[in-house]
Amino acid sequence: PAVLVAIVGRPNVGKSTLFNRLTGSRQAIVEDTPGVTRDRVYGEAEWKGHTIPLVDTGGYVPRSDDPYERAIREQAEIALEDADVILFVVDVTTGITEMDKEIATVLRPTETPVMVVANKADNEEREWDASEFYQLGLGEVYPVSSTNKRGVDDMMAALVEEL
Ligand code: GDP
Ligand code: MG
Repeated sequence: PAVLVAIVGRPNVGKSTLFNRLTGSRQAIVEDTPGVTRDRVYGEAEWKGHTIPLVDTGGYVPRSDDPYERAIREQAEIALEDADVILFVVDVTTGITEMDKEIATVLRPTETPVMVVANKADNEEREWDASEFYQLGLGEVYPVSSTNKRGVDDMMAALVEEL
């Protein structure tokens, strides 16, 4: 069966950087649906013989008086409709924000496996900071650095276990 991994999270946590790191040049389709305000980039990660379809849900355009609310709904809806596994990306340099908490509230009751990816863990000290995200109540936290590759292999190993 086809599987799809969705990358979600608030703006600026590094979703697209992680997506690019995982897919390299293997991204093809940009889906832009006017009126639905959905903008998605699809790609494929190749990892140890696995080909994993990925979607970066970050490119939405807000059309509401409450863009943050809208962002959360859009992303959560896309992810929950379509994805078999959700990578919920957060930022160790900021810690947990209100928007992270809101996204977590949407994701927590779902059956879809959610992996908390604590991005920008560029060094050992920042890796320690990732433990704060266990407070989101979504289970295992994977510290990664999308810019220097740290932790990405461990995260991918866990991801393929979920497929
Ligand atoms: P998005 O809005 O969630 O898609 O975030 P982007 O991928 O556009 O990244 C936002 C900013 O965070 C950019 O300036 C990235 O270079 C930076 N960034 C992304 N990943 C990392 C990381 O692992 N470490 C550091 N230090 N910066 C990162
Ligand atoms: Mg992005």
